[in-house]
Amino acid sequence: MRVYNFSSGPSVLPLPVLEKAAAEMCDADNSGQSVMEMSHRSREFKAIIDRTEALLRELMAIPSNYKVLFLQGGASLQFSMIPLNLAGSESGLPEKKASYVDTGVWAKKAAEEAAKFADVAVPASSKDRNYTYIPDAPAPRQDDAYYHITLNNTIVGTKWPSLPDTGGVPLAADASSCILSEPIDVSRFGILYAGAQKNLGPAGLTVVIIREDLIGGHASRTPAMLRYDIHAAEGSLFNTPPCYGIYITGLVLEWLKGLGGVEAMARRNREKAGLLYAHLENSRLFSSPVEKSCRSLMNIPFLPREKDPEKKAALEKRFVSEAAAAGLVNLAGHRLVGGMRASIYNAMPIEGVRALVSFMERFEAR
Ligand SMILES: *Cc1c(COP(=O)(O)O)cnc(C)c1O
Repeated sequence: MRVYNFSSGPSVLPLPVLEKAAAEMCDADNSGQSVMEMSHRSREFKAIIDRTEALLRELMAIPSNYKVLFLQGGASLQFSMIPLNLAGSESGLPEKKASYVDTGVWAKKAAEEAAKFADVAVPASSKDRNYTYIPDAPAPRQDDAYYHITLNNTIVGTKWPSLPDTGGVPLAADASSCILSEPIDVSRFGILYAGAQKNLGPAGLTVVIIREDLIGGHASRTPAMLRYDIHAAEGSLFNTPPCYGIYITGLVLEWLKGLGGVEAMARRNREKAGLLYAHLENSRLFSSPVEKSCRSLMNIPFLPREKDPEKKAALEKRFVSEAAAAGLVNLAGHRLVGGMRASIYNAMPIEGVRALVSFMERFEAR
């Protein structure tokens, strides 16, 4: 029996996608091979990677002056690749300036990694209130090579309510946990990136969407595998890409298109998140720690109202284990936030959220 899986990542995939992949496991598209067995230089795989890119371009309305790259290393490797490629300088070292807004663990990690290479400023942070809001974003420095934000903060459950105005400075954004959850205007960004394992497909693939004029400014000692210009020139086939992850992502994009695309997905996501937030507003046991104006549609933490540490821990433990017994799994909160967290990515059906809310009502009544 399938459970409702609220994992923050790797996370739930659409059942029709898994079924299609299972049906094609040993023989994809009459090739007589599994996608896992294909040469990445074969005609069959070329069709898969081209179709995946075309679907992503169509669904996100990616302008033609942007490259789509299928890379490895997770979103975390982008924390290094972005400064190496965008903050390069004549000296051969990446030492230009960049600003990073600190809205949580991933944002902070990105800034810390970049600070090894570039001259990093943190113009704003929401650390003072445990990252439960998105701070006002001050203007970039005139000579910033880029301005980095984390669009959706997976751990604490915030999202940017609107994009900061960075003037002419390219906006760089980590979209790992919100890509394709709502329409975004790609032209507002210099570079967008996302690890696949939340909203796109399996772990192992990272998607990078980058404006062409930002490619090629890398520091001269940048390793080849970390250079956007090389991956772009080779169509993501500089070395063996994560072939199976690209194939599954293609199936996820087909599924998403079949449901009406990103607008339809956004309506669905607002309805799903709305059910859970509405329940939390009225709950005597739990509440959302996040400021209303910047609540995530994808990751919804909820904390016991109980203040006594022992009673609180007991309540959390009981909730998580009884929920799991009812087929609602991976609801324990992140260790840094505590409490519970429901990640309700695109692939989580509304029935899953209804089942969670109904479980919470019964749990509270008991
Ligand atoms: C999960 C996540 C990451 C880390 O992704 P990896 O692919 O494991 O490196 C980074 N940023 C955000 C916003 C995430 O949700």
